[in-house]
Formats: sequence, structure tokens, C-alpha cells
Amino acid sequence: MEKVEIKAKSVKGVLGVHDLIAEYGGPNIVHTGFHIEVAKGTPIEEADRIAEEVKERVSRETGCQHCVIHVDPVKI
Ligand SMILES: [Zn+2]
Repeated sequence: MEKVEIKAKSVKGVLGVHDLIAEYGGPNIVHTGFHIEVAKGTPIEEADRIAEEVKERVSRETGCQHCVIHVDPVKI
């Protein structure tokens, strides 16, 4: 769980992570879901790129095939 948060935060543009959940959907299948926080006013294209990168890094690290990432804009 902590690894997911660390990985997600290692992506530039990610300010925070919350509502992290992980559950086993069967042998070797892990479903993860979490919210990432990006600066309010971040263009949607940029937010999408950030989310994709987070997904890629987290997938590589945890081996989860089903990562659901929700992007929250936050004020800084
Ligand atoms: Zn949220």
C-alpha cells in the first residue's frame, strides 16, 4: 500500500494521494483504486498525462492490472 503512494507521488505534478484501496480479485489479481491530487488549473491534457504515468509506474511496481485512478484538482 505504501509503495503505491510513494510511486504515485514520484510522478511530477502529483501533490497528494488519498482514498487508497487495494483488494484481491483472485490469485495474483490486485485491484487498486485511489485519488491523486493535481494543482487546480492544470490543463486536462496534463492531468490525463499525469494519471497515465501514475498508472504505469504503479502497475509496474505492484503488478496490478486494474488501477482505477481518479484525479482531484486541489488549490495550492
Ligand atoms: Zn478524491
